[in-house]
Parts: sequence; C-alpha cells; structure tokens
Amino acid sequence: MDEKLEPVLAEIERRNAGEMEFHQAAREVLETLGPVIARNPDYAKDSLLERICEPERQIIFRVPWIDDNGKVRMNRGFRVEFNSALGPYKGGLRFHPSVNISIVKFLGFEQIFKNALTGLPIGGGKGGSDFDPRGRSEGEVMRFCQSFMTELYRHIGEYTDVPAGDIGVGQREIGFMFGQYKRITNRYESGVLTGKGLRWGGSRVRTEATGYGTVFFLKRMLEASSKLMEGRRVVVSGSGNVAVYAIEKLQSMGAIVVACSDSDGYVVDDDGIDLALVKDIKEVRRDRISSYADERAGKSRFVKGGSIWDVPCDIALPCATQNELDGKAASTLIKNGMIALAEGANMPCTPDAQRKFREADVLYAPGKASNAGGVATSALEMQQNASRDSWTFAQTEQRLETIMYSIHDRCAETAEDYGMPGNYVAGANIGGFIRVAEAMRALGVI
Ligand code: GLU
Repeated sequence: MDEKLEPVLAEIERRNAGEMEFHQAAREVLETLGPVIARNPDYAKDSLLERICEPERQIIFRVPWIDDNGKVRMNRGFRVEFNSALGPYKGGLRFHPSVNISIVKFLGFEQIFKNALTGLPIGGGKGGSDFDPRGRSEGEVMRFCQSFMTELYRHIGEYTDVPAGDIGVGQREIGFMFGQYKRITNRYESGVLTGKGLRWGGSRVRTEATGYGTVFFLKRMLEASSKLMEGRRVVVSGSGNVAVYAIEKLQSMGAIVVACSDSDGYVVDDDGIDLALVKDIKEVRRDRISSYADERAGKSRFVKGGSIWDVPCDIALPCATQNELDGKAASTLIKNGMIALAEGANMPCTPDAQRKFREADVLYAPGKASNAGGVATSALEMQQNASRDSWTFAQTEQRLETIMYSIHDRCAETAEDYGMPGNYVAGANIGGFIRVAEAMRALGVI
C-alpha cells in the first residue's frame, strides 16, 4: 500500500476497533488509490481521505416489538449516513441476525463508490437491524417494521436519506415501513423509500434490477474480451432476489445455470435450474431450497452444507452475502476452468480470493460495479416519483442496460488509464473515488 495511505488505514483500524468487515472494505479501496494520489496529490489534502472513511452520521436505536405470543422482543436498529456529497444518502436496509455496526459500515462505505459509479445524484448510506425475519409471521414482521420506522422516520426524507431493501427486506417490508412513515408524517412522500410496489409509487424493473444489472455487466465484460455468454455453465450462489433475477437474465441469454443455494446448502441440476420452481419455493412458499431437489427427484441433488463453488462452471456469480467465497473456493473455481466471475452480492469474495483471481488473470467484476443496477434503478424510481410519472418496463430496462454498460466502460477505461488494464477492482474504486472526491473538494471542509 502507498505510504501516504498506510497511516489512514491504521487510524481507521484504531478508531473502529474490532470492525473487521469495515476494515476489509476500507483496506480494499485504499489499496487501489496509490496511483490516484500520486497523480493528484490534492486528494490527500485537507484530510479528504480521512473524511471519506468517516460516516457523516451514525444512528443506532432500540427497536422494541411484541411477538404473536404477547412477549416483548427487542432488537437494535442502525442507519449509517456515510456520504452526501453527490446526493441524498442512498442505500438499503438489511434485516439479518448478523447485522452489526461493522457490517452496516462496510455496506455504507461500498455504497458511496457504487452510487458514484452509476453517474446518478445519490450519496451513500446503509442501515438495518439484527432482527431475524426467518420463521416470523406476517403480523410480527409488520409490527417490527412499524417500530423500526417509528424511530427511523425522523432521520430520513426524499432530500435527506432514501432507504431501500437488502437481505431480509423486500417489497413487503418496504410497504409496512412506507405505511408507518406516511402515518407518522401525514405525507405521501413517495421518494422517501425505494423498492415500493408498482401500485404505490414503485418502479418497473426495480425488483429485477440487481440481478439483471449484474448479468448486463457480465455480458459487457465478456464481450470486451471477445467471449460469449451462450452455452456457458454458470453457478449462482443464493436464491434470494438478486440470484433469482440473475438466473432469469442468464437463461434468457442462453447460459445454463446449473446450481443455486441458500444458507442450508446447494442444489445442482445439470439440465439447468427450473427457475419457476425456485421462484415458487422462495417467493411464494418462503421455503428452503432443499425442497427443490425433493420436487425434481432423480434430476437434481441437494448438498447439505458444503461449498457451491465445488460445482464445475465457466462463470461464477456469488449472489448471497459477504465473504461467501474464500481463497480455497477461488482455487477450486480456477482449477475447474472458470473464466469469469461477477459479484451480485456485496463483498462476497475475500481478499484472498480476489488475489487468486488477479494472479490467474480471470475476469473479475467487483460488486460495487457489477451489482450497482439495484441502486441505479432506485434512483430511476426517485426520478419517476419526483416527476409523478411511471415508465414502461422496456424503457426502464433500457435505461438500466445503458447504465450498466457505462459503469463497465468507466471501470475498464479508468483501469487502463492508470496502467492496470483488465483490473476492474482498481477501475471501480478509482472511478468512484474521483467522482466523490471532486464533489467533496468543491463543497469545502464539511
Ligand atoms: N441494497 C442494494 C445495494 O446493495 C440496493 C440499495 C438501494 O436500492 O438503495 O446496492
């Protein structure tokens, strides 16, 4: 790491002790900024680097709620408003038992650069709770969301901070939170949340956007290396919103998706995953992926635990969660002949895995570039809300596709410009950083 940047990281580690995921995300970005600082030393002035790594505001609050048996439960809520140089804070809410300040900060930090890369006017933020929606009734989820919003409402707004979904937060939860916000404020402020339903201010393609966007990015990345998507064997981890719509787009482009997973294990189906069945299991029945193998007995198998990355493939799409793909998995993928990987999740590959991909010279798209389609379409939802308009599916998907290609090209050109052709990690970090740093410098020391 550049000697000007080392003390910045050391200070982050000291002041945010124990926040492993945040350290990891900060290190990854700082490690790639050496050439930028060398070319433009102004970016290291006025503590700009220190300021970009320090959230503008961090909110932590108690979320009490009552379960179906009348017992009072208690969770912790978070919203980290990281950077608003480019626009209102923008980023999802995650409901998962693993959520803590380190995870919210790593996600918020990534979001700053991701949102900058979209070229749209959105700052970076993230939030959530350690609430576990698994096994909770609809009534319990609603009461939790209402309690969460009863505190959060005072910190957000269409010009201030615009949350959306992430793991554990989909259209249902956004609906309950939007309802509570509307009730408390007496304002039908559509632009305060994104990921809304189509009948109450949502945008077409938002549901599909992260998965579709990842595949658009992948397509462009393959084409840039004169490679084709058609006929490729693809492994997609996860079976949530990102995975499902990535699979849909991959299949429409002629790729064969042979495996997907949830936290219990993975299913392999050599004929190609039956997506309608996955959707029914995950979106309608809210059941486990193991039931896929039960219903396609003889044609597919369920592997409990284990690593989905053991399944041989040409292309890998980690779409589950952070650090789900380590160095060992990376070595297996490379040994099995993988040619490209695009991250649908946030920071799914460990630093060790990233290093192995770089050494093996495989195409590797980091999440802050390849999964930006979700938040980009959220910004399109905000545009439609502000103009009280509603676009067609085709028009919105076209915008998404154009945005993803331009993110790809920006990353590729930036990497080239800084003498690291094909290094999408450097391209994404540098491209996103420059946009935020320029705005921060223009706005003065705030
Ligand atoms: N949670 C998504 C992400 O990681 C989307 C955020 C949004 O739409 O604001 O980018």
